[in-house]
Amino acid sequence: MPRPENPQLIDTFGRVATDLRVSLTDRCNLRCTYCMPAEGLDWMPGEQVLSDDELVRLMRIAVEQLGVTDIRLTGGEPLLRPGLEDIVARVTALSPRPRLSMTTNGIGLAKRAAGLAAAGLNRINVSLDTVDPETFLKITRRDRLSHVVAGLAAARDAGMTPVKVNAVLIRGLNETEAVPLLKFCLAEGYHLRFIEQMPLDAQHGWNRGEMITAAGILEMLEAEFTLTPFPAARGGAPAERWLVDGGPGDVGVIASVTRPFCAACERTRLTADGAVRSCLFSNDETDLRSLARAGARDEEIADAWRATMWGKLAGHEINDAGFAQPIRPMSAIGG
Ligand code: SF4
Repeated sequence: MPRPENPQLIDTFGRVATDLRVSLTDRCNLRCTYCMPAEGLDWMPGEQVLSDDELVRLMRIAVEQLGVTDIRLTGGEPLLRPGLEDIVARVTALSPRPRLSMTTNGIGLAKRAAGLAAAGLNRINVSLDTVDPETFLKITRRDRLSHVVAGLAAARDAGMTPVKVNAVLIRGLNETEAVPLLKFCLAEGYHLRFIEQMPLDAQHGWNRGEMITAAGILEMLEAEFTLTPFPAARGGAPAERWLVDGGPGDVGVIASVTRPFCAACERTRLTADGAVRSCLFSNDETDLRSLARAGARDEEIADAWRATMWGKLAGHEINDAGFAQPIRPMSAIGG
């Protein structure tokens, strides 16, 4: 279908992408069993990773020419990106200023939160699948729960808001953690978001039977709490939300597999090596790094980005018979 003249990141299903997810690195300092093998992965060679200038240029083009209003920094683990605070300061200096957030595993955040907040980062999601040290060690293969807990507190104390916790529940690993996690977050003032496990692991070992579904999560929570639908409209937000025991505390579930929200998707993605992906699950991507390094003008890069999004599929097809897991793992795409 010919693409109509429109500066924004539109697609053939009438969606407009305004939320850019940027992976700053594919490297990580945890080894979560549902994400990568114990030995880690072959990380991208340095020269393939976008430089700070290239990264900021692409984000500037997205904000100035493509209508992007929200940017989320991800990884791998973004705290491992050298010069992160400077990147944050440069992004928040863009005009119009994008809303900036970051998803992190929290390792090292206790020391960095104040500096990141001062640089302009005001929203953060920290991945935490358990509040039990033994279970944390079993999932991440690292004994670092206290570091994550300290990182969360530092983000809150640095004035970041909201401070969200992202949790994945897996049968046989941490399915009993739903209630303890919510109690912890309510007590600390964090906003908990459960995410259904998605087939994006490097080992391609995803097993639908091990995934705890949204229905399963809600059943466990309702045994302990009274959940009422959240009063505000959901819009394109991935999470369905509930007030807990009448509020103000809330909880959310991102049911990517069993209750897909692709029809309202507002996301576009940039990988650490400069590829644009229209969807977390697409197997097609456009290499903007080579375009930029070959001397392309901003307008040419913007047009290539628009063309990629115009070809975006209706949704992730996980529930379709012919579903093929993307070659690129989650750790090299970002949340
Ligand atoms: S799976 Fe793809 S289309 Fe669906 S919500 Fe996620 S990024 Fe959007």
